[in-house]
Amino acid sequence: MLDIGEAQRKILEEIPVLGSERIHILEALGRVLAQDVEAIRDVPPADNSAMDGYCCKAQDIQHASVETPIRLRMIGESPAGKPFQGTVGPGEAVRVMTGGLIPNGADTVIMVEFTERTGEDLICLQAPGVGAHIRRTGEDVRAGEVVLAVGDIVRPPEVGMLATLGHAYVHVYQRPVVAILSTGDELVDLDEPFSPGKVVCSNSYSLAAQVYECGAIPLSLGIATDDHEHQRSRISDGLRADVLVTSGGVSVGNYDLVKDTLAQLGMQLKFWKVNMKPGKPLVFGTIAKKPVFGLPGNPTSAMISFEQFVRPALLKMMGHKNLWRPLVEAVLEEDLKIASDRVHLVRCKLSEKEGTIMARPTGTQSSGALRSMILADGLMILPPERVPFRAGNTVKVQVLHGGMPLVPLSPYDHESF
Ligand code: AMP
Ligand code: MG
Repeated sequence: MLDIGEAQRKILEEIPVLGSERIHILEALGRVLAQDVEAIRDVPPADNSAMDGYCCKAQDIQHASVETPIRLRMIGESPAGKPFQGTVGPGEAVRVMTGGLIPNGADTVIMVEFTERTGEDLICLQAPGVGAHIRRTGEDVRAGEVVLAVGDIVRPPEVGMLATLGHAYVHVYQRPVVAILSTGDELVDLDEPFSPGKVVCSNSYSLAAQVYECGAIPLSLGIATDDHEHQRSRISDGLRADVLVTSGGVSVGNYDLVKDTLAQLGMQLKFWKVNMKPGKPLVFGTIAKKPVFGLPGNPTSAMISFEQFVRPALLKMMGHKNLWRPLVEAVLEEDLKIASDRVHLVRCKLSEKEGTIMARPTGTQSSGALRSMILADGLMILPPERVPFRAGNTVKVQVLHGGMPLVPLSPYDHESF
């Protein structure tokens, strides 16, 4: 049986990176750049003031202080957007506002706070050096420089930079459409009558939410019964998507038909079963080069398998460079009862104690118990050769949610925040 890492490698070998599309910069939030972005101009485009104050020649006021004030003559102003047209000569000053251009002849800005006004004159009480409070041409970005590169994720600062450089549109990798089919005679959808013995088909929704969360587009194929004909027709519908994900019917029960249905549709099976718990019966293959994932039906098994295998594949398709959730080391808070048969992925809560990340399981680890996923900050990754796991042992935890600080802050840091 493959281990998790081997299975991930086999999957990623089959996964293409999608083509690009040109979209509005605001729509591009969370997407990955498919082209480098080169600056067409300097930012800032000209020297300007970082402060509200006065610009003048630094030499004129080099001996200014509260005890020895120096008087300059005001000759105009340079507010942001309306540059002063003249030249600043010896003994002269121009009022400048933040973002206002530095006029010819001036080489420093004295902040308002260190000046006084008497009529047309300016009294300087401080000696800022040459270049003080001046934002230089191109100090943020130089014309011709590659500011954003292929593979960069568009976050709010990237959106701002694209706008600064005058781009309304940007090339990003496409998002895959992911068809999701739930299988099982017992399943009912939300608009169907429920009775004991039936199971509400939650996987269609949790898996679609996972697809959304990683930035791809879910396409629901609804529910198929445990019947080859019904499954074939639903899956055929789904083959217009970029990726097919099924849930249920991949184990060794009498009604686990999905693997055979996929074979009937021409799937090239790459592997079946991964050495993990939950999630062992995973099927992976391709139909006409499209990746097909047969996830187990138990709600947490399906979600955890998605995390380990489908998410990295979708991220690769969308051009992401980092396909993996962060791993942290944590100290176990309690002994664990773990069989040494497979790699166990145990849902856990993380906390911080005196600078150390602590981990404890979120109660029942039944593969049907979604509650344990809700409570989980991450998954402990427990290899069989390290069983038994005792309180105080260090374990690796795959962090599923952003809330947990990777470098824990001390209580002092929290207070000073
Ligand atoms: P299976 O993998 O088909 O053997 O299903 C394993 C367990 O997961 C069974 O208890 C199913 O009822 C349950 N299950 C399968 N598919 C779904 C689904 N789409 N939503 C919720 N539970 C499911
Ligand atoms: Mg089933």
